Amino acid sequence: MLTCASCGHSNPSGARFCEACGKTVEDPAATAAAADAVEADFLLEQAKSARAPLLIVAVLSTLGAVIETVQADASIRNTVMMIDGALVASFWAIWFFAAKRPFAAASAGLALYLVVLGINAWADPSSIYKGIIIKIFIVVALVNAVRAGLKHRTFVREKGID
Ligand SMILES: [Zn+2]
Repeated sequence: MLTCASCGHSNPSGARFCEACGKTVEDPAATAAAADAVEADFLLEQAKSARAPLLIVAVLSTLGAVIETVQADASIRNTVMMIDGALVASFWAIWFFAAKRPFAAASAGLALYLVVLGINAWADPSSIYKGIIIKIFIVVALVNAVRAGLKHRTFVREKGID
């Protein structure tokens, strides 16, 4: 049952126009559902913004892997190439995955990126400050994407959207 805001007439639910005065009647439930869908889309887009930092990580790790492999001592070159190659492949896979599952990809990308930063810092403490601005940008962007993804998931479940 929808009560017309203009004349107070009770219209059957689903009515778009008042039977008595012809003005538009709004279904509060439908209005709320539309607002929820907009909010859910916004949060999903925020989570998808992880694609940009993930792409930067994938490109930078690819360049880093090439340089490291070329510079590596011949005796360990194959090992370096294999380890770096696996890492590079993971970052590209996570980036690819981010289009469909932004929350999972942002979480996995952030975790892996922090592990790599940690290993590099342990192996060479002076490396921490190399490209510190881009590192901070990547971490902040991924953290924001993870938070948006988490909010999206919680919101969608709470509201029962898809
Ligand atoms: Zn009316």
